[in-house]
Amino acid sequence: MTSQTSLAPLAGRVAVVTGASSGIGEATAEHLASLGAEVAVLARRKDRLAELVSRIEKNGGTALAITADVTDAEAVGAAAERVKNDLGGADLLFNNAGVMLPAPVEELRADQWQRQIDLNITGLMNVIGAFTPQLVEAAAERGVADLINTSSSAAQNLYPTFAVYAGTKAFVSHLSKHLRVELGPKGVRVSAVEPGIVGTELQDHVTDPGAAAWLQGSKETIDWLQSDDIARTVGFIASMPLRVNLPQVFIMPTAQPS
Ligand code: NDP
Repeated sequence: MTSQTSLAPLAGRVAVVTGASSGIGEATAEHLASLGAEVAVLARRKDRLAELVSRIEKNGGTALAITADVTDAEAVGAAAERVKNDLGGADLLFNNAGVMLPAPVEELRADQWQRQIDLNITGLMNVIGAFTPQLVEAAAERGVADLINTSSSAAQNLYPTFAVYAGTKAFVSHLSKHLRVELGPKGVRVSAVEPGIVGTELQDHVTDPGAAAWLQGSKETIDWLQSDDIARTVGFIASMPLRVNLPQVFIMPTAQPS
């Protein structure tokens, strides 16, 4: 059983964080390490992961950088093997890498539709496929495991021009509910975190002028969430007593109406 002191509630835990080179994933990796977890950080940008690992280590934590593209199932499988060999296997997976590319559907940006589907759905599934055996094993052997998927408020709310992104996130939320009933009886807690707007690099990838203007207007009038707000939410979910599972956590900027 994991030691759960109030100072280091995640001591003894091994966390994997995808999308850890910026934004929500980066903040969450740092926060989970500060709560005592050993953290494996995954993304494509090697330099950003190296900086993150050195920051975590400077603060007394343990971290392992794994450069991988999560849309590449083979690379994700190799990453899972590395986590098993180097850290003994994951018992906390924050499945978070994602991209948001809104545009009016009539513009037929099939390239952007595909990028979102490839990363937000196929990439997410590659990670689930590679790490679920470790989570199930950890739940059986160590008595604890968490699978926390990053969805979005777009899974619940309606935003014009965000249809494909919202569709991918509705997949994440519904998948999470189903996995919970499948894996919960094996001791794996499954959660979907559904944030409203968080100020990160996510908005920088938007190319559609209408969506970019809407986001800019929102930024000027609403105090957006910060990555650390989500990091602390993930830390809270994983630090709860083992009998407690938060299946769906909807978290909004106070002034964002929907
Ligand atoms: P960022 O753009 O800051 O982070 C995205 C992360 O995903 C980066 O670390 C990026 O790293 C990684 N990534 C992108 N493509 C790949 C890939 N092919 N393989 C591996 N890693 C990849 O955005 P956020 O932190 O905001 O986004 C994190 C999650 O939160 C996403 O799922 C997003 O949909 C969700 N979300 C964000 C909200 C927001 O308003 N910011 C609101 C609701 C949900 P690299 O480029 O180095 O690979």
